[in-house]
Amino acid sequence: MTEHPENTENASSESRINVDALVVGAGFSGLYMLHLLRDRLNLKVGLIEAAPSVGGTWYWNCYPGARCDIPSYHYSYSFSEELQQEWSWSEKYAAQPEILEYLNYVAKKFDLAKNITFNCRVLSAHFIEGPNRWHIKTDDGKQYEAKYFIPAVGTLSDANVPEIPGQQAFEGECYVTGRWPQEGVNFTNKRVAVIGTGATAVQVIPLIAKEADHLTVFQRTPAWAAPLQNKPLTEKDNEEIKENYSALRNQAWNSFGGVPFPNARASALAESQAQRAEHYESCWQEGGFSLWLGSYQDILFDEKANETAAEFVRAKIRERVEDPSIAEKLCPPEDVYYGAKRQPCETGYYEAFNRSNVTLVDVKQTPIQEITPTGLRTTRETYNFDVLIYATGFDAFTGALFRMDIRGRDGQRLKDQWAAGPRTLYGLATHGFPNMFTITGPQSPSVLFNMPLGIEMHCDWIADCIDYMEKNDVGSIEPDKAKEDEWIAHVKEVADTTLLPKASSWYSGANIPGKPQIFMVYLGGGPRYQEIIENSARNGYKGFLLE
Ligand code: FAD
Ligand code: NAP
Repeated sequence: MTEHPENTENASSESRINVDALVVGAGFSGLYMLHLLRDRLNLKVGLIEAAPSVGGTWYWNCYPGARCDIPSYHYSYSFSEELQQEWSWSEKYAAQPEILEYLNYVAKKFDLAKNITFNCRVLSAHFIEGPNRWHIKTDDGKQYEAKYFIPAVGTLSDANVPEIPGQQAFEGECYVTGRWPQEGVNFTNKRVAVIGTGATAVQVIPLIAKEADHLTVFQRTPAWAAPLQNKPLTEKDNEEIKENYSALRNQAWNSFGGVPFPNARASALAESQAQRAEHYESCWQEGGFSLWLGSYQDILFDEKANETAAEFVRAKIRERVEDPSIAEKLCPPEDVYYGAKRQPCETGYYEAFNRSNVTLVDVKQTPIQEITPTGLRTTRETYNFDVLIYATGFDAFTGALFRMDIRGRDGQRLKDQWAAGPRTLYGLATHGFPNMFTITGPQSPSVLFNMPLGIEMHCDWIADCIDYMEKNDVGSIEPDKAKEDEWIAHVKEVADTTLLPKASSWYSGANIPGKPQIFMVYLGGGPRYQEIIENSARNGYKGFLLE
């Protein structure tokens, strides 16, 4: 066996902890993966989690206002009927504490914590050719050896803090929404600043506005936010949901985005202005993603159709924001397509800007120059505040993967292999990195499909694949490079039929300076995608090389 010099591990094989599979991350993905591999396949599984608790996204993003944007009864696991029947949701769109409680409940119900090492970070994972094993190092000094390496590290888990001159010198309190302190933050009598107006900021701003002495919002691109229309779920609602769960799940699984929108019509352009206004209004009243995914199918494909939805939202903003000049600042311009980035869902967002203690600063017009010890300076003005909040998004898809030193065959680093953009087959695996599987990885429907269901789809596929390998004595699996190329081209081709790649967004890596800009989501829809990956499995993992 020849090992790449950098792959030479300094632990003896006896001192390594041997497992069949090592999973990283205890969010929706890692928890279900652990359950499947341990309880269905009877494998020896270890799970490493950086946080002190399960939850992933729902542990870290405990900022005020955090909640899901698709109904809770859809935004939850479907794999266990017993779990579905046991758990009741208190609101249509559950808040972060309730989702975290749910994930803790799941971990307890399936006795998952005993296989999880918390407060521990995976630093590196190197594939060793010959024995076909992954050698994994963690920051508690331990080393693991596993046949299967499954980074379930999340597509939106690596919080992005943009580099701004002077930021280290800020003397006030500083927070990042994606790493919010578990004990919470008290804003009373404080001057607060929020940088960013994406989905996170849209949730946090109305609540901080009510509590703080003053809130200044630094907006670069206005959001296309639409009302969530959240409401409590009664006992009767929960009974109905539980009675109809199998039908609800069926509808979800068979929907493009994993959430059913039965009233979606074909074309905005095929209807009169009056018909459109009425339909948009009913979607607006229904809330959530109804306007985005449930109004007209062509609004994400056709610029003119898109503009009809955009104009509808702009009119709503002008209606709700009292000061016309602030309303104009909050209206996204024509070149920012409505819905080309996940539509933020809001509760009282626009009304927050009617408050006398809230200031909106357009930092596209007057860019941020530096952060000072007492605040922030733009090209026009200096602002002083006590608390600075970065609601500036994530290094999505690749950020958390690249933070680990992952190396495949010949010591090839994942970071180098993906230097021009992620390279995967189906977002599940990458050539040169045998027996490594990503869950909702780049080039799968991932963030544009109801994520718990997308996660289940991937975990089920991975577990079936591993089961097949174990039963058929397969030592390694990895994508065929040519098939990977085809898939990458196909993902691009499908995306290019829509308006989404035209947006400057984290879907394309545009929010991170220097990141290659490649659209990273498969937009063929969940059902079609599921058929593709299941077809590959049915045909002996067609497209993959098995050794
Ligand atoms: P995560 O939940 O991100 O979990 C990954 C875990 O890996 C984290 O706990 C992290 O600590 C751990 N980890 C990472 N690197 C390492 C390492 N090197 N060592 C050890 N541990 C590591 N999706 C929807 O479909 N609907 C929604 O309503 C929705 N709302 C969202 C709201 C917010 C604020 C955010 C940020 C995302 C939202 N998402 C939503 C997407 C959400 O990320 C997914 O729905 C889902 O929670 C992802 O689960 P996951 O297990 O794949 O990843
Ligand atoms: P985001 O959509 O990337 O928004 C980040 C915001 O920060 C944008 O307004 C961005 O402006 C701004 N920003 C970044 N760098 C900046 C800089 N240097 N100067 C000024 N402004 C800067 O991130 P997010 O809001 O965290 O949302 C990410 C995703 O997480 C969402 O799309 C969604 O999938 C998920 N999410 C869901 C919910 C939910 O409702 N359930 C809530 C939160 C998040 P530009 O647009 O100009 O770059």
